[in-house]
Amino acid sequence: MGFLHLNLDIMHETCLLLHPKDLLGLLRSCRTLRDVLYSPHSRFVWKRALVNYVASNAGAISPLPPCPTDLSELKYAFLAFSIPCQHCGALIGRTDWDLRVRYCTLCEPRHITLFDATNPPILACDPTADVKQLVAIRTLTPAFLTSELATLTKKYQALDTQARAVFLARTKQQLADRYIHARLCRAWVASL
Ligand SMILES: [Zn+2]
Repeated sequence: MGFLHLNLDIMHETCLLLHPKDLLGLLRSCRTLRDVLYSPHSRFVWKRALVNYVASNAGAISPLPPCPTDLSELKYAFLAFSIPCQHCGALIGRTDWDLRVRYCTLCEPRHITLFDATNPPILACDPTADVKQLVAIRTLTPAFLTSELATLTKKYQALDTQARAVFLARTKQQLADRYIHARLCRAWVASL
């Protein structure tokens, strides 16, 4: 009997033994497994796969840091263990840990805007706000995700002055946490 003919529970049980790379391979193998592994009901399988990987590398000097709380385990596994570009599927993707994306050099310019410190983008609703406190900026060749800035700007725009201050403070903290995590991820990659 093939893997696809197993019932969902047994399929999940089997997946619990796997590493993130194996799960990503299964996810790409056919539509059925893709649907199963993309389902929120399979979240525990991705969580376990990351635990399995960390356990198999116990004692590593630069271990893979835990999945951040604002990222799904599937997305984290994709960033850490996948190869293709997330837009076109070309097998030359590169993970940008600051921006949490994986694009090839051809697709990157379509999604990323270079950050010009001498002429930084301004928020139309509040030109005094520092955009750098709002959106993740890549450390090497500073750039940000165009869509991320658009989403955050929209959220910011809907708030009153007091709520904006709270929003900025919270976002600033989230960005600080994100940069620390990105540094740990780069150290993990360098140690492989
Ligand atoms: Zn691409």
